[in-house]
Amino acid sequence: MIGIVVVSHSRALAEAAVGLATEMVAEDKRPVIAIAAGLDTTTFGTDAMAVSEALGTADSPDGVLVLLDLGSAVLSAEMALEFVDPEMAARVRLTSAPLVEGLVAAVVTASTDASLDAVAAEAERGLVGKQDHLGVATADAAPVVEADRTVEVVVGNEHGLHARPAARLVGLVNGFDAVVTLTDLDNGKGPVDAGSLSMVATLNAQQGHRLRVGASGVAADAVLAAVEDLAAQNFGDAVVEKAAPSPGGSGLDVAIGPAVLAGAQVSLGDYVAGDNELGRLDEALATAGEQLDELRDNHGDIFAAHLALLGDRKVLDDVRASIAAGASAPAAWKQVYGELATAFEGLDDEYQRERAQDVRAVRDRVLRLLVGVTEVAPTDGILVVPELDAATAATLDATRIAGIAVRAAGTTGHGVIVARSRGIPLITGIGDVDVPPGAVVSFDARTGSFEVAPDEERVRATITEREGERAQAIADADLPATTRDGRTIDVLVNVGVVQDAVDARGADGSGLVRTEVLFGDRRTAPTVDEQVDAFRAIAQALGGKPITIRTWDIGGDKPLPFLPQDREANPFLGERGLRVFRRRPELLRDQLEAIRRTAAETPVHVMFPMVTTADEVAWALQELGPRDGLEVGIMVEVPAAALRVGSLATELDFVSIGTNDLTQYTTAADRTNAAVAPLADGLDPAVLQLIDHVVRNAGVRVAVCGDLASDPHAAVLLAALGVSELSAVGPQVPLVKAQLRQADLGRVDTAAVLAARDADQVRGLL
Ligand code: PEP
Ligand code: MG
Repeated sequence: MIGIVVVSHSRALAEAAVGLATEMVAEDKRPVIAIAAGLDTTTFGTDAMAVSEALGTADSPDGVLVLLDLGSAVLSAEMALEFVDPEMAARVRLTSAPLVEGLVAAVVTASTDASLDAVAAEAERGLVGKQDHLGVATADAAPVVEADRTVEVVVGNEHGLHARPAARLVGLVNGFDAVVTLTDLDNGKGPVDAGSLSMVATLNAQQGHRLRVGASGVAADAVLAAVEDLAAQNFGDAVVEKAAPSPGGSGLDVAIGPAVLAGAQVSLGDYVAGDNELGRLDEALATAGEQLDELRDNHGDIFAAHLALLGDRKVLDDVRASIAAGASAPAAWKQVYGELATAFEGLDDEYQRERAQDVRAVRDRVLRLLVGVTEVAPTDGILVVPELDAATAATLDATRIAGIAVRAAGTTGHGVIVARSRGIPLITGIGDVDVPPGAVVSFDARTGSFEVAPDEERVRATITEREGERAQAIADADLPATTRDGRTIDVLVNVGVVQDAVDARGADGSGLVRTEVLFGDRRTAPTVDEQVDAFRAIAQALGGKPITIRTWDIGGDKPLPFLPQDREANPFLGERGLRVFRRRPELLRDQLEAIRRTAAETPVHVMFPMVTTADEVAWALQELGPRDGLEVGIMVEVPAAALRVGSLATELDFVSIGTNDLTQYTTAADRTNAAVAPLADGLDPAVLQLIDHVVRNAGVRVAVCGDLASDPHAAVLLAALGVSELSAVGPQVPLVKAQLRQADLGRVDTAAVLAARDADQVRGLL
């Protein structure tokens, strides 16, 4: 096996690069690597004597490859060759390969006992994978020969065929007397030489991709069998068990349990400062760190951000300085983190501003530990909150919490949508009713009642009855939603995360894939491949039924971290949805490509959000290009679009009414503002009149994917108005279908509904 020498100006740099490269191969397969770097551990420089000593250490009859960093590293290495025995110098090759990528490629290739020529060639191609990925012209790859035999394997690794599994594959195939090639059947890349790490990297094979492995030569059969084995073992990576589909909440609209009050300020009133406030702080920080570690493992990114905030060195220094100056630990903590939250609130970027909520959560977690208030976990009880944010709704244990009662009215905020899609019983708009902590409370969202100290027997009887109703609806979920008077309505599911599609029962596809939610936890834009993977997973979970992918709907209350937006005075009236991309079309183009690619495999509809004018529709269609069987639509959520829908839809296949936004724009009531939430009622006759107008004038299929479609009684009304497709939150799909099957649409008095005085009167009529 050849030896390797690393010459660098920095010892730390060289050691780190060697550490990274040796990670790629098993310990017993590593070549000897000697370092000549830095004048000592901290002083930068190179020294010819040190290089010649390193050459002596790494020397091997098979040769030595020398990787170098900048300028004088090359001069020192050349000089070192004059110090060593000429016979040895003849076995040494200095390479111009990039230090890090070249070293990784060299170590992996050397570990397969490859010749000095082969290792040097691989090191020199070290940049090919990165260049290919970034679209930079690459050096010509070695020609790939025709394969005698082929097999197909699948990449199961969570992060695709990344460096380590690729290195194992390369190491394996180079041990056989065969020429092996790889082709990625999903992204069309290849064939490439499977014995070259740099070429394997150019495949960019992601999780789920199918690889065709070709081999020729005497050991063709043996190497293919070995590759199949390696692929079956996840290319040597530990298999990450995906959590089984979470059963979620009960999906009922009625609940009972002890009240758990949240959102209350932590009071420092009874705190007595001691003489070791710094020690108390450290103890609280350690416990908070452990709690957050566990939460991050179970619930992901939101708590990783909390951990980062907890460990912010600058902020901690400020807290400690304040304690040193005489403040108690909780007072110092509260003040510094309070100021930090205020600073976040003042930032221009909407996403950053929302992080103030995280700062406050971290502030309160540590404060509770410092003052000894135990955090009440809302398991088995009813969580009573002033407002419901999406992060809380997403992280509650849906299998244990009895329900959520939100003081603010309104049913279209994203926290409410998330809780409903997880099947958690929920009531909104209970107002400032006095709820003593721990008191038994109950609610029935169907009748809108919330009671403190209710007649428990009566409530439990209602729960049993609703459970029966729900069980029957679920048993019938796969039956079509054909009304008594013979109209069949398609009932689909709204999807924000793949799990929504996995959990859906009886859905005829997805009428809304919220892409900005699907990738909402990303700090960088997803690639086309990643988007295709996610869309494919949703389509597969729904058994190949059509999915309606909505292009990025950002702005307003939906910031995306990888697409920062300018601060706007009225974000809901600003650059939202499609409007954002008129200025920055690149992100939309990637998404449209991913949608077109998914559509080549499975039925896909695409729709554009927040459309107002015919000009916008024309622009979007032009960006989309050839449709090739894709059904294309727009969302109708702006009153102007509803009123002129006929002229907007001339070249479309369908329109889908977003009742959440259509309601907020019709009633001029911000969907996130609790103070005006009672106005933002989807059953307001003004909203219904617009829906009626759309059905009569669109000239194409009309769907509803706003949350009004998740209310079984409203769903019947929408069908009676002529809507042919409804997309609801998952747990409601069987109930909406059951209600439609019992309905006689001809008997719904739509004229009376449209002429009603207000939403309450509409409810009475339903
Ligand atoms: C709507 O506005 O009704 C809709 C479905 O879109 P979103 O709630 O995601 O804005
Ligand atoms: Mg909307």
